Amino acid sequence: APRLRVAPSPTGDPHVGTAYMAMFDLAFARQQGGSFVLRVEDTDRARFQADSEQQLYDTLHWLGLTWDEGPDVGGPYAPYRQSERLDHYRPYADRLLAEGKAYLCWCSGERLAHMREVQQKAKEPTGYDRLCYGKTREERAQLPGFTETPVVRMLVPDDVELVFDDLIMGRTKAPRPDDQVLLKADGFPTYHLAVVVDDHEMGITHVVRGQEWISSTPKHLLLYRWFGLEPPKFAHFPLLRDEKKAKISKRKSPWARLTWFRDEGYLPEALVNFLALQGYPPVVEADGTEREVFTFAEFAQRFAWKDVNPAGSVFNLDKLDWLNGVYLRELPTDELASRLLPFLQRDGVLGEAPTLGELGRLRALTELVQTRIVKLTDASALVRPFYLADDALEIADDARAQLKDDAAQVLDAAVEALEAVPDERGGPLGSEPTFAAAPIEAALRAAIVEGLGVKPKFAFGPLRTAVSGQRVSPPLFESMEILGKASTLARMRALRA
Ligand code: ATP
Ligand code: GLU
Repeated sequence: APRLRVAPSPTGDPHVGTAYMAMFDLAFARQQGGSFVLRVEDTDRARFQADSEQQLYDTLHWLGLTWDEGPDVGGPYAPYRQSERLDHYRPYADRLLAEGKAYLCWCSGERLAHMREVQQKAKEPTGYDRLCYGKTREERAQLPGFTETPVVRMLVPDDVELVFDDLIMGRTKAPRPDDQVLLKADGFPTYHLAVVVDDHEMGITHVVRGQEWISSTPKHLLLYRWFGLEPPKFAHFPLLRDEKKAKISKRKSPWARLTWFRDEGYLPEALVNFLALQGYPPVVEADGTEREVFTFAEFAQRFAWKDVNPAGSVFNLDKLDWLNGVYLRELPTDELASRLLPFLQRDGVLGEAPTLGELGRLRALTELVQTRIVKLTDASALVRPFYLADDALEIADDARAQLKDDAAQVLDAAVEALEAVPDERGGPLGSEPTFAAAPIEAALRAAIVEGLGVKPKFAFGPLRTAVSGQRVSPPLFESMEILGKASTLARMRALRA
């Protein structure tokens, strides 16, 4: 059975590319009854960030992605953190040294930087000039730019194989590699040694990663050959690109970070669907029409390497908004209400420990806003007026601007009409409350549209302003029902005062 892995480096906020690759790994693993492994590649101590690993778990779990083996869940090939596997890598490097396939290099950082500068100026290909190759420590120490602790470099042969078969790209040619460092002066392996050793030792059958790694693949294949190991299959995915076709990067785009999507109020199921569409075509129905909305399970079931889009696509957040709206409208009301709650708390609409009354009101409000919001973050503005004390309601400027000359007359007529609507709470036997949307609407229409002859288009604007303080609000009569008679009247009177 296939074994796939995602191998993120804990160097900051998790990248959307990590989730993107994890999804394809997981889809294939699940379809084939294989395993999906999470391995933490923390060998770059300079870029290491301690809280990054936990963020990785949190964001991938938020997306609903699960792994069979990893540092947090263990597994038969533990440990799954490279910093805890250091004793695994050195024997491989020692073996290459003994066989003359690798050599020690004592060049200082300054010497290497200077060498690169000279090569760039002369427009020569950059790469290590093999100053240390074939020299003993004593011989090398005579020359400038010497450091005490050596690194181990690959001696890349002239006939290194540069062409490989890729599951997505087909036959692929990569540039000639440099004499890559395998073991660093701090005793840590580089990514290249560690990834090959671990993919082998963990029985990985398919390496799925971004196209940025194509240039590394010949080094990896050379290592497999030197160690006498069967290499895994490779699938290099097109990078996620922005509107300008540039690689999405954390430095340029906030949406390169997985936490951004969560904080912006996107639903994980919408983001998963969106990411799948970045590299994979929509479902084609029996009648030939395309369907872009699909679950992860459906995606995993129909996944095939040959259908991955080798060109990649542009990250279109409008499409994500659209998908989010679709998923949001499909959620059961109670589920949506519980997903909205943390955002309402974050925005200070509700407190840390909402009362049962506040939660009951949230359920009613959720029904009203469900078709009117695109993201979870959109709800706060619509819902806030319902949690304010009547005398704390502020009237927004654009809502106040809605008040025309006849607003006073309209408000007075509305107050009078609503005072006459009875206000009996729904009883325990399920009787409906009497101060409800339908009777409210009937009373207001009779008083304002028919009574005063105001066109419906103008009749209800002032009322909306009075009860919500907003120009845009949930449906008016339902809003009044939720607010209740006393609050509705108080807010209308306050606007008249
Ligand atoms: P940047 O600042 O450019 O985003 P980074 O160093 O913060 O770079 P990396 O740590 O290199 O990000 O990337 C994390 C993971 O996301 C890697 O596995 C990488 O292959 C993947 N990745 C990065 N950018 C993209 C992209 N545009 N499309 C797909 N995957 C990407
Ligand atoms: N640690 C690498 C990264 O951060 C893994 C690349 C690979 O999948 O081989 O992307």
